[in-house]
Amino acid sequence: MTQAMNSKVFEGIEQPKLEWAKEWLKTTKKLYINGEWMDSTSGQFIESINPANGKVIGNFQAASKADVDQAVSAARDAFEHGAWSTVSRKERAKILRKISDLMDQHRAELATLETLDNGKLYTESYHDAVGEAVDIFEYYAGWTDKYYGENNPVDGNFLSVTTRDPIGVCGQILPFNFPLDMAAWKLAPALAMGNTVLLKPSEKTSFSVIRLFELIDGANLLPKGVINLLLGDGETGQNISTHMGVDKVAFTGSTDIGKKLVHNSADSNLKPVSLELGGKSPNIIFNDPPNLDQAIERSFYGLFTHKGEKCSAPTRLFAHVDVYEKVVEDISKLANSYVVGDPFDPKSNQGAQVSEEHMERILGYIESGKSQGARLVAGGERDMTGENANGFYIRPTVFADVDNKMKIAQEEIFGPVLCIIPFETEEEVIAMANDTIYGLGAGLWTNDVSRAHRVASKLQAGMIFVNKYGCYDFASPFGGLKQSGWGKEYAVHSLSSYTKQKAIWFAY
Ligand code: NAD
Repeated sequence: MTQAMNSKVFEGIEQPKLEWAKEWLKTTKKLYINGEWMDSTSGQFIESINPANGKVIGNFQAASKADVDQAVSAARDAFEHGAWSTVSRKERAKILRKISDLMDQHRAELATLETLDNGKLYTESYHDAVGEAVDIFEYYAGWTDKYYGENNPVDGNFLSVTTRDPIGVCGQILPFNFPLDMAAWKLAPALAMGNTVLLKPSEKTSFSVIRLFELIDGANLLPKGVINLLLGDGETGQNISTHMGVDKVAFTGSTDIGKKLVHNSADSNLKPVSLELGGKSPNIIFNDPPNLDQAIERSFYGLFTHKGEKCSAPTRLFAHVDVYEKVVEDISKLANSYVVGDPFDPKSNQGAQVSEEHMERILGYIESGKSQGARLVAGGERDMTGENANGFYIRPTVFADVDNKMKIAQEEIFGPVLCIIPFETEEEVIAMANDTIYGLGAGLWTNDVSRAHRVASKLQAGMIFVNKYGCYDFASPFGGLKQSGWGKEYAVHSLSSYTKQKAIWFAY
């Protein structure tokens, strides 16, 4: 974390573009359909609030059903007439690289918008959110000519081949927590495989994605209709996911909405739906971690960066009774030392929760923890000190002596709230770790190789981290089991989900 003392200068990175953003945000943002910025036919606007001070920062138009229809037609036309799928793979790769470069060149602008909209620290937007979005376009640029079909070893006088073709018109619906990064996770592989796209960011955090579309449009990189931006709330998402002309929906968001999308698919054209949903990830510190201090520190930052609004955050920390008191004490110290405040101040360690409603929801969980008898050892309240008075800030909150059956240990809070739970035996902790509807991430810390293998094999999670929680790389699949989702993102897995397979037989 950059800690420039007595100034608001960020060390080693570009400074925020606040004056630029103020000017840019003055105009109402439009929809982007068929290569044009268009007014919505709904006549409706959505205002976006800066969570750091509760003030409106700007607004954008909300897409109506007719706008969604128009975007689907444009995307269909671009797809069927090969405006994108027939562009050579080499050329496609070049374009994806150019998008990556453009984002990199405008990184400070994008990070500034993301922080104004979302409330996360500017450094978090700059390094993690925008930084990763830049990298993923570069990564998938390298894949445009490396993912292909198979020659099937069939009996008889036949050649049987499996082809992998783009799926068609893809709807992509995003959550509020990593707007630009989630857009890149979905856009880059879809485009690499030759699909056309309708993208809908969260109504809470649309601006950095709008700016990305402006940059792509300004550089004239894609044929018209290949990417379309549909701004709006759940109604717009609903209109995309029920549309008969949409061939696939990729969704990242809550489990409740994910289930709705599955119904919408069944009730419309049975389009494939990929789902990256919620989590309540366990993180187990046994009594023999390679380095207890490092395990404690990583467990803390794993949850509290990005103000706890991270799907795979290790929200349930199981600590063996031999190390339990030290874990509770050290984690509380770290939480109490955290500076919560202005995300554009380099001294802040934690920014503001995305919205007032979300903050209230988190505070509700904190009250439930208190009333169900968990021991509050840090935080536990809204932070309204000084300039934080009008923002949606919550002190990093740590509950010890949590029972895994409590509401705070079972439901996704999606905020800066950690539950610490003691355990004695391996069997007991595996049972508790798996006692959740979710299965996104899981961590364990031990020096015993046999135990590491045994426990990892029994944990029900899509990503398991041994001796370092939260390792992510595009080369390794990202995604959950159980009610944390269907399918995987990253690597070849995203490409697979943006292609359809056909077996073609030739008799000879
Ligand atoms: P959300 O489910 O409330 O909203 C996500 C998106 O769905 C938004 O764009 C919203 O407008 C849209 N939407 C709402 N109702 C809809 C409907 N009926 N039909 C279609 N679209 C609809 O989620 P959120 O609050 O923005 O994000 C937080 C959630 O996202 C958390 O549960 C978190 O765990 C999850 N998440 C998961 C991952 C992952 O990779 N597994 C990553 C990030 C976030």
